[in-house]
Amino acid sequence: MKAACFDKSNLKYVVKEIEKPGIQKQTDAIVKMMYTTICGTDLHILKGDVPEVPDGCVLGHEGIGRIEQLGSEVSNLKIGDVVIVSCITSCGKCKYCSTNCQSHCEDGGWIFGHLINGTHSEYLRVPHATNSLHKIDPKKGFENYVLISDIFPTSYEIGVLNGRIKEGDVVTIIGAGPIGLAGLMTAKQINPKKIIMIDLDRSRLDFAKEHGATDIVCATGEEAIKEIMKITNNEGSNVVIEAIGTKFTFDLAQKIVSTAGHIAIVGVFGESVEFNLQDLWIKNITLTTGLVNANSSLELIENINKNKIPFEKLISHKFNFEDIEKAFDVFKNAKDNKTLKVLIKFPE
Ligand SMILES: [Zn+2]
Ligand SMILES: [Zn+2]
Repeated sequence: MKAACFDKSNLKYVVKEIEKPGIQKQTDAIVKMMYTTICGTDLHILKGDVPEVPDGCVLGHEGIGRIEQLGSEVSNLKIGDVVIVSCITSCGKCKYCSTNCQSHCEDGGWIFGHLINGTHSEYLRVPHATNSLHKIDPKKGFENYVLISDIFPTSYEIGVLNGRIKEGDVVTIIGAGPIGLAGLMTAKQINPKKIIMIDLDRSRLDFAKEHGATDIVCATGEEAIKEIMKITNNEGSNVVIEAIGTKFTFDLAQKIVSTAGHIAIVGVFGESVEFNLQDLWIKNITLTTGLVNANSSLELIENINKNKIPFEKLISHKFNFEDIEKAFDVFKNAKDNKTLKVLIKFPE
């Protein structure tokens, strides 16, 4: 079968023939992939930022596929089911899984395209299939549900739920990339008074405005702070979702959060930041971090099927698997191509 594999010494991604996976444990499933996509994390791996990824590893942790083979201990699924591959593999039994912190599962967590072969491959072996695959009964076309593998649960759980958004709140999302925009779409369900989006990419902000942002701020640093303070009558934002991951955007988040507000960190940080506790210790704020647990997938699917979240709008480009290199290119050069998420279709 064909798969795209990480060439670690050259930091390249090469499509080649590799052996088709088989069942290794009776809790496994083998899935014939139908669709996948690319995540910012895949780009980090290709830059060499995630050193534990082994040479030759197939990347990708998002996808839709059809079950081809099942171990004898997998329950609730059958051969032929179309499933969402969750970016988090969960055993369902360990101390983390039993406290709803599946991201740190002792025999799973984020392993696809990280520690074991991922979804950029014609076939995928899924450990602990019972808890790591979600059968779908699609209302909007199978392909769109690829967004439920990672980006919607991530922005909803780590942004919206950790940020404790309530009806009537002022919410600010820093970063109008796919994760920030998914946060906008899921935050909107809770009816905040305002959702302010901050980014430097005008076309992404226009998209945000079309999909529920009440205000957009195309600025950074002091200028962004000034605009937010004007929009919020100097009170700041009740909830700030940080969806970029730099010291500048972290600094912005801590300067625009209101008294008793919440900062929810969704961005992936590759550097340390300055934390202004001398200003914040007295403000009764909370700050949360996290890796997605993907335990909100079923709730999200339900809301999508009720037409509450126009998630499919986040797919901006479509490719066939044989053109995956082109897909990476378009995803990497997002600004030039107006890219949000790319959909990659496998041969049938
Ligand atoms: Zn991801
Ligand atoms: Zn577990």
